[in-house]
Amino acid sequence: MDRDFPPLRTLETLNFDNSYARLPQAFYAMLPPTPLPEPYLVSFNESAAALLDLDPVQAARPAFLDYFAGHKTLPGAQPLAMIYAGHQFGHYVPQLGDGRALLLGEVVNSRGERWDLHLKGAGETPFSRSGDGRAVLRSSIREYLCCEAMHGLGIPTTRALCIVGSDMEVYREQIETGAALLRMAPSHVRFGSFELFFYRGQHAEIKVLADYVIAQHYPELAELSDKYPRFLREVVLRTARLMAKWQAVGFAHGVMNTDNMSILGLTLDYGPYGFLDQFDPGYICNHSDHGGRYAFDRQPEIGAWNVTCLAQALSPLMSVEQAQEALSGYNDAFATHYIELMSAKLGITPAPEAVPLITGLLEILQQNRVDYTIFFRRLNRFIPGNQNAAVRDLFLERAAFDAWAALYGARLRQEGSLDIERGARLDGVNPKYILRNYMAQIAIQKAVQERDYTEVDRLLALLRHPFDEHPEMDRYAGFPPDWASSIEVSCSS
Ligand code: AMP
Ligand code: MG
Repeated sequence: MDRDFPPLRTLETLNFDNSYARLPQAFYAMLPPTPLPEPYLVSFNESAAALLDLDPVQAARPAFLDYFAGHKTLPGAQPLAMIYAGHQFGHYVPQLGDGRALLLGEVVNSRGERWDLHLKGAGETPFSRSGDGRAVLRSSIREYLCCEAMHGLGIPTTRALCIVGSDMEVYREQIETGAALLRMAPSHVRFGSFELFFYRGQHAEIKVLADYVIAQHYPELAELSDKYPRFLREVVLRTARLMAKWQAVGFAHGVMNTDNMSILGLTLDYGPYGFLDQFDPGYICNHSDHGGRYAFDRQPEIGAWNVTCLAQALSPLMSVEQAQEALSGYNDAFATHYIELMSAKLGITPAPEAVPLITGLLEILQQNRVDYTIFFRRLNRFIPGNQNAAVRDLFLERAAFDAWAALYGARLRQEGSLDIERGARLDGVNPKYILRNYMAQIAIQKAVQERDYTEVDRLLALLRHPFDEHPEMDRYAGFPPDWASSIEVSCSS
């Protein structure tokens, strides 16, 4: 039937409807991409193409490279650089904006979903400041893989259609290979999009942007008399829930500036991110983050700080009391969802009794430097009263594990938990595979040094289904190699 199998489209017949481009000019600068010379396809993601109703055979056409390396404009696209500001490492920067990315346009698919096509690495824009407008292959691969890995884990995120490479040299700490990434999201509006107009005192534009985002993405609020505080509250709750998801899976974003905070509560802008190997709450994935502002365990608090910035930017649209009321939901939304998620990882009911089990576990994981992902995956086969050697062996202090395991086992028994049923359920909760830095690094090395992109594709296929067994990829389910700890990831991308 038509609904199940929408007619697939060509590059030339994508269904564009560019709502953002219909906003007044204050919100963007219209310009075409600067072509990336001699482009070649590095990777193409069929599941993202499906979101556009794009026939995957289109990726094999030379025109595909023309469009996504900026040589030609897709029929119906209206490329523009979005303007925004933001708090970077706690300090307000009055103007940022898309300095190297362009919103090519918005495709509405057969299910009525709207997808921004956002080309990152598309050349200089009026917002490039001192940057060159380009992206490098290394960081494009990191972003491409992590979008899809997060999606596979069920965490709200931007998506990615393809990476196009080029032999153009791009200068970072060293000479690197240039590339462009086609990123997709229902919207790329950020907290910083509102902040720009607030700090410039352009209150009419704040209202226009809020009305636009509400109409497009929060239509259930559009007719309410208190739609602005309700909108803020919804973003606050989505952000809190996103933070809970990051903490539960062990993901550190690395650059939680307000210009990287999505108005839809999506994980946005993958730079120096990292998944935890050993459970280390103070983990700082961004080598440039000397103060540890964006350390793993500070993310919930930074999320709260960031929504406060958004509330400030929206303050002309509501009373102080309304803003405070909207913000007040954050802590509870975070805590409730985090306990839900951690209880789900343990296979227990998210009751108050779960809390000491969770906190007690995190303490011994930290003290024993236990691998977070491997611990939970092995815990799926836990049997109360048994020695549970596979899990126990992860701990230097076996007694600490035994003490916790006794409490955990008692809890499972009390709840009448059935070991086999729980094991099967937990296999769908605790992933076997996450995108560890070293895995991305292997794919990057092969791509950059050997022009071999097979590892990118292999990882993409693996991480799309991180809960499944992939026997041929078992090496990626184990501990990271020793050299992994020497990988340094910085903001440079
Ligand atoms: P990011 O750290 O990627 O979130 O970028 C922060 C800001 O710097 C955004 O306004 C980017 O568009 C801009 N930016 C980052 N790298 C470049 C670059 N190579 N050229 C121009 N602008 C850049
Ligand atoms: Mg950014």
